[in-house]
Amino acid sequence: MLLGPPGAGKGTQGKALAQRLGVAHVASGDLFREHEAEGTELGRLAKSYMDRGELVPDHVTIGVVLQQIHDPDCAKGYILDGFPRTLEQAQALDKALGEWGEAIDLVLYIQVEEEELVRRLGGRLTCESCQAVYHRDHSPPKVEGRCDVCGGTVCQREDDKPEKIRQRFRVYQEQTAPLVEYYRCQGKLKEVNGDGSIQEVGQALRAAVAG
Ligand code: AMP
Repeated sequence: MLLGPPGAGKGTQGKALAQRLGVAHVASGDLFREHEAEGTELGRLAKSYMDRGELVPDHVTIGVVLQQIHDPDCAKGYILDGFPRTLEQAQALDKALGEWGEAIDLVLYIQVEEEELVRRLGGRLTCESCQAVYHRDHSPPKVEGRCDVCGGTVCQREDDKPEKIRQRFRVYQEQTAPLVEYYRCQGKLKEVNGDGSIQEVGQALRAAVAG
């Protein structure tokens, strides 16, 4: 599981780590945005919360993610990214995994200075179709507004606008940060410095998984 504030690099690192370990990457935000792109009712509901920088209600989120990790794609294991984000979600996850005879192996807590988070999120651009991530200044798409990977439309996420970023930080501090202690008490937490480059943080995460 990857735990950390918005902009810590959970998505980028989660995808890379999952590929390396040969397991699935389960990102609750991606699941909601996929539903949004498909125009489902769940997608519309999730969007109304996401656009405000608020959390999608627990009962909805828990159902979506538990269903996903029960999928055959996850049989060999998975990296959870962006879930759980509340104590209720963490407890529901523990309960479900317990019933399935499974458990979370490791929680990697990625720590990043708030100034750096604002810089990253403020310049972040995302592909509406495949969720590939770019940065306006450091790694823009080759053709402006077009995804290098799939040709989809690349733009700023509604919740990456400045006032929404502040709201997401507030939500993180109030609802998600308590999970650090929750998993520390379970003896599963490892802290990783997330301030470096993508490569440096990736290496630190791999070392934490190996050791
Ligand atoms: P992310 O892509 O992880 O930054 O998530 C984007 C948005 O999706 C969040 O700001 C929430 O509105 C929603 N979301 C993602 N994961 C969760 C979760 N575990 N619980 C509630 N809402 C979530």
